Amino acid sequence: MSLTPQSGIMNIALYEGGKSSIAGRSDVLKLSSNENPLGPPPSAKAAILLAVSEVYRYPSTDHAELRDAIGKAYGLEPEQIICGVGSDEVLQFVCQAFAGEGDEIIHTEHGFSMYPILAHMAGATPVNVAETERVVSVDNILAAVTDATRIVMLANPANPTGTMLPEGELERLARNLPESVILVIDGAYTEYAEGYSGGAELARTMPNVLMTRTFSKVYGLGGLRIGWGYGARGMIDVMTRIRQPFNLSTIQLAAAKAAVEDQDWVPACTALNAAQRARLTGALRQLGVACDESFANFVLARFSDEAEASAVDLALQGEGILVRRVTGYGFPEGLRMTVGDEEQTGRLIAALTKWREGQA
Ligand SMILES: *Cc1c(COP(=O)(O)O)cnc(C)c1O
Repeated sequence: MSLTPQSGIMNIALYEGGKSSIAGRSDVLKLSSNENPLGPPPSAKAAILLAVSEVYRYPSTDHAELRDAIGKAYGLEPEQIICGVGSDEVLQFVCQAFAGEGDEIIHTEHGFSMYPILAHMAGATPVNVAETERVVSVDNILAAVTDATRIVMLANPANPTGTMLPEGELERLARNLPESVILVIDGAYTEYAEGYSGGAELARTMPNVLMTRTFSKVYGLGGLRIGWGYGARGMIDVMTRIRQPFNLSTIQLAAAKAAVEDQDWVPACTALNAAQRARLTGALRQLGVACDESFANFVLARFSDEAEASAVDLALQGEGILVRRVTGYGFPEGLRMTVGDEEQTGRLIAALTKWREGQA
């Protein structure tokens, strides 16, 4: 090819999303993308319909109303918030603004597959750090930091393991990183971890900690693409310079504002999730399938080997159920299963039980 892309781009392996259909079936239960079984709050749907009549106007460029609403809901300073097209865009801003050729971006062994993609997009080098028994290791990360390190990216709770670092460990990491290194705490699943603030206090008080959050998971708005980041003003100001002025549409802004103002939605969804997550975890263990305690809205089931995971995946598809293969995350023996509502979880457990009984 005579056209030369920027360095790193051809190292990007295309992102693979969870499957969403099975040929010839109309009763598919999609448990492959960690979506909220309850969808978005009704207030957000109503806001979308209302916003339709406004789409001939350009949207707000400073997102002031949405940032105010987020600030109120989470007790944060609106001027330290930046909004993006999903939290993925906020992660892209931080990589592009603070790392480039010759720089290193640390991610961890079983971390979110977007992190190395984002590093390559910025022309930087992703550095993969080992975890300990499927949990992020603060010591391993600190040992991997070099003069070239610019960013450390981790999700807490993590995807696809569902495990998490206690806030004390997050703080130890933040305090021991050089001031020239940004710690990104990706909080896509924060709301599902009871009593956990997502590292908001670290992001408030330290100049080099960025917390990212999303409307895609507990707010049920994955299809609309809205996320945000929170950190020191200096960092947010730099990122804002590379944000397109109209990155969020009128409809995105209206839906997200209504969703975050709905005080009852998060507790209702997380209560349902906690109950069904405990039920699914218990059922898997009873069936002799290994799984760690999850702090998110999915469970990583670990079967005896890759062949067994493939067989279970096929058996579930035979029942119209889609879960996520996680070979690319270092778990060829794993299947990540989104926690559904009561009926959906019942259907998943029944299908797993049928598979196990069919083996005998
Ligand atoms: C789902 C998810 C996100 C959210 O991405 P959006 O771009 O906000 O939809 C971010 N990080 C992790 C680890 C996720 O699993």
